[in-house]
Amino acid sequence: MSDCTHNCGSCGESCSERTAPQSLVEEINMFSSYKKLIAVVSGKGGVGKSMVTSLMAVNANRAGYSTAVLDADITGPSIPKAFGVTERAAGSQQGIVPVETEKGIALMSVNLLLEDASDPVVWRGPVISGVVKQFWTDVVWGDVDYMFVDMPPGTGDVALTVFQSLPIDGIIIVTSPQELVSMIVEKAVKMAEMMNVPVLGIVENMSYFECPNCSEKHYIYGESHLEEVAAKHGIKNIARLPIDPSLSKLCDEGKIEAYEGNWLDDMSKAIY
Ligand code: ADP
Repeated sequence: MSDCTHNCGSCGESCSERTAPQSLVEEINMFSSYKKLIAVVSGKGGVGKSMVTSLMAVNANRAGYSTAVLDADITGPSIPKAFGVTERAAGSQQGIVPVETEKGIALMSVNLLLEDASDPVVWRGPVISGVVKQFWTDVVWGDVDYMFVDMPPGTGDVALTVFQSLPIDGIIIVTSPQELVSMIVEKAVKMAEMMNVPVLGIVENMSYFECPNCSEKHYIYGESHLEEVAAKHGIKNIARLPIDPSLSKLCDEGKIEAYEGNWLDDMSKAIY
């Protein structure tokens, strides 16, 4: 082929000498760098993916790392609210400038670009994945140690495109106790395997409720199957997050950076 660049990773020609598929991975914005890109995924919406993304980012920031959150959950963005960020993102000659939280975490979310944060995003899949790609290529992130991606929920078209476009180093799967007994988690694990992305850990959210009076743990959604599912897939890091009304209150008030709890400390240490 006349236009063959002899680099199969970047060449778009369909030539008989092709040795590897063309890589769809985009380069990060030219004024930015990162050490590790971690995607937080879930089988479906509402299981606490944004909660875990926020807590992992807060932990990294507290540990002194330069931290960022790319909110790729375009149709259900909840990261800015959890961090109490209401400012609009501004543009510069180099690109879009992320908004910083009170403690200095860089955020980019579609809600920081919409005229009114309550406007619904009624876009089709390719437009949504195009915006996520732009958050990677056009946002001036600066030098980031840990960037957490709050992924679109599920294992469908949008999640797949994001997986293929960003050079994700590993994923954290967030699940509820009920999902662990279904095949939803298996699907997320298999998707990661197909994409050649390691699963760094599984977080079972809403695992139990601890009585504030007697400290007894109540397993509201039934007994946990976390260990067994993790062992089946050779996943070493597991964590359990209780149902804690103070967590949802902090999110509602935009004060998640003030959370207290050590549930994700080991998971955090495992990725540093
Ligand atoms: P997802 O990102 O998976 O859609 P969210 O993280 O937005 O889910 O969580 C859904 C709702 O449940 C939010 O209102 C959040 O504050 C609340 N929530 C999530 N995890 C917990 C928890 N462990 N304890 C109390 N509330 C929680």
